[in-house]
Formats: sequence, C-alpha cells, structure tokens
Amino acid sequence: MSSSDFVYGKFSEFYNAPSTAFPSPTLLGQRELGFLLFKGRIMLRHKVFARINDFKSFLGEVVPSDVYRSCAYYENPEAEMDKKGWLGADLVFDIDADHIPTSCDKLHDEWTCKACGLTDKGEPPKHCSKCGGEKFDTKTWVCEQCLDSAKEETTKLIDILQRDFGFSDKEVHVFFSGHRGYHVHVENEAAKTLDAMARKEIVDYVTGLGLTISNRGRKGQKGKKTSEKFFLCDFAWNKRIKQGMRNFISAATVDDLQNIGLKRAISNIIFTKKRLVLSNCIDEGLWESVPGISVGTWRKLAEYVKDLESSKIDTVVTTDTHRLIRMNGTLHGKTGMKKIEFPLKRLEDFDPFEEAVAFKEGGVKVFVSGAPKFRLGGNVLGPYRRKTVEVPTAAAVLLICRGRAEVAS
Ligand SMILES: [Zn+2]
Ligand SMILES: [Zn+2]
Repeated sequence: MSSSDFVYGKFSEFYNAPSTAFPSPTLLGQRELGFLLFKGRIMLRHKVFARINDFKSFLGEVVPSDVYRSCAYYENPEAEMDKKGWLGADLVFDIDADHIPTSCDKLHDEWTCKACGLTDKGEPPKHCSKCGGEKFDTKTWVCEQCLDSAKEETTKLIDILQRDFGFSDKEVHVFFSGHRGYHVHVENEAAKTLDAMARKEIVDYVTGLGLTISNRGRKGQKGKKTSEKFFLCDFAWNKRIKQGMRNFISAATVDDLQNIGLKRAISNIIFTKKRLVLSNCIDEGLWESVPGISVGTWRKLAEYVKDLESSKIDTVVTTDTHRLIRMNGTLHGKTGMKKIEFPLKRLEDFDPFEEAVAFKEGGVKVFVSGAPKFRLGGNVLGPYRRKTVEVPTAAAVLLICRGRAEVAS
C-alpha cells in the first residue's frame, strides 16, 4: 500500500466512524465551509451546511485532508465573495509556534539544498555553503517546547482579552490547532461587526505595537531643560508592565539585568537594593527614590518587560474578516491530529500530544528516514534514522504526513 493511500484510508475511517462527532459552530448555516482535497490539492469552497449531520456525511464521502469554516457570518454563504453579504465575524487569533522564537528548531528541523543535496539541521541558510544554491527542501517538526511556548503566548493573549477587554469565559474559546499552536475565538456581539481596521487596533494592543510608556514631562522654568519623569498608572498596559517589572526584578540576577542592556553598576544597585526597588519604586510609584536608577533605566526595563508581556500572535489572521479557519473536530492534514476545543481553565495542563490524538488503535510498519524523539498518545518513540520499525497508527500517520516516513512493504 502506498503511504498516501494509507493516510487517505485512515482519514476515511475517521470521518466515517459512527463515534466521530463534530460540535456545531454557532450559526453553522451562515458560514462558508472549505475543503482541501488530497487529490490534486484542490480547494472546494463556498459550501454551506444547515445541519452538522449533513456536514459529517459530506466529510465521509469526500474525505478531505483539511477542513475550514469562515470566521464570518453571511446572508448567502454559498455566493461569490463579493455577493455573500457579510454580517459579522468572530474575532479570531492564531498562535503558531512558527512565529515564536525558540531554540529547538536546531534540534528537529532539517534542510536539504535542492542543487547539491547538502543537508543540515535548523533553519536553511540564505546561500548553501557548498554550492551557493538558494533553494532548499525543509523538513520541520513540532516538539513539546514548540507547543509549550505557543501555550505561553496563548495564556498571555487570553489574559489580555479577559482583563483588558472584558470578554467573559463564555465568549472566549480556546482550541489546539492540530499542528503548531492554538486558536482563540471570541464570540461577542460588539466584536462581531468590527471591521478590519478596528481588528488591527486590537492586534496592536495585544502585541504592544506603538505602545509608548507615558512620561509626565515637567515644564522647564525660564529656558531651563525639560526634565522627564517616569510614570505608570494602574490599568491596562501600564498595570501589565508594572506587574511584569515586579516579576522580572524579583527573580533577576545581576547578569539577567545586564543582559537586557543595563550597565553593570546599575544592575548591581537594582540587585542589592531589590526590596527597596520593589516596594518604593514599583509599588509606591516613587520611581526615582533609589539613587542611581534613572528614568532611562526604568524606560529600558519597561521596554523589555513589554516584549515579555505582549502576545506573539499571527497578526494577519485576526485582521482578515473573511478568514477561513480550521473546523473544530477535524483532522489536520500535516499531522493527522485533531483540532479540539478545551475549557479555558484547562489551558495550563492541556496536553496536545495526548488529547488531540485521533488514531488510537493498531500499529503499522514504516520506514522512517529521520525523526527526533517524540511523545504521542502515551508512547515515547524515536529517535529514528533510516530505520524500519512498527509504530502505533497515530505515529505512523504523523511521520508520513510530516514527510519523515513511508509505509514499509
Ligand atoms: Zn548546495
Ligand atoms: Zn520545537
């Protein structure tokens, strides 16, 4: 059996199994659905289903590699784009490990020069060091560290959406995407009709773009120089930075402080007078009460903390009011894992490598060209290099979908 027939067969079994169920999104009949087919990588768009059971039957017949639904609600979801009659859209966020700097890509990503075949780990270089070629085949992987960092960004995002924007537990939905990260959907009447510009403002807020730390300038008297004061108030980003600064300084060593660009002498002062800095400067707002810590130092700290506290979302997803996003409960064509929703309060202990596994039975013999050590559905597997091995079905589907293995004959 070819590897692609094997994967298609498994997807077909999943979509035709009586036990497979899909939670219906709000107003299903007003949404556009899209299906990417295995064959020819063709995208079927502008589909509409009034009932979730009709949708499931269609999946069983068509067996797509990926399934999407619009964030938007339309008068006529099956019409051409400009005739759909946009009524509103969920506010959606995509947190993708690809957009977050991590060090693990050097451990699990590989590239091969298309011209000379040179291969190495990590991200491909601009030019091949052997032949100067500029085209590369890349094989990426998503590890626990990748998804942990995506989860951290998701946690920050949800905190901003709830504490600063006031969206409730009922309005904020969190999902594992089935591959590299998390999706957050907000369903709220006021947010529903926001246009792309308004959504961009929300994106800027979440990412901290254009945030200036306020200074209360003192007017200089009679030609004297204007002096600046550092100041943070007690709401929104100001409060976030204050809290973030408190956390950072509490745990920081002299080296940590130096690493963000502070001079050694200043880092020493902050470190040795930590308690005073926390209580007088940060809690009381007497920012210049510790000699040696200037407005410039506070600004540097605030800038650093802003980066820590902002959420690294994929910004274009949120601003696109016609966006198609993966449908809850369906399989991701690059992993064979499910997109699934879970309660907000479970974010910390949610385990994608257990809970998003779709294929829980049986095993398959595969030839693995290369794969790092990984954990999936209660099994720890690999590392593999040019090896024929029997693995659980979920792992076989994952390895084949990632281009790391073939079904062994
Ligand atoms: Zn080369
Ligand atoms: Zn990783």
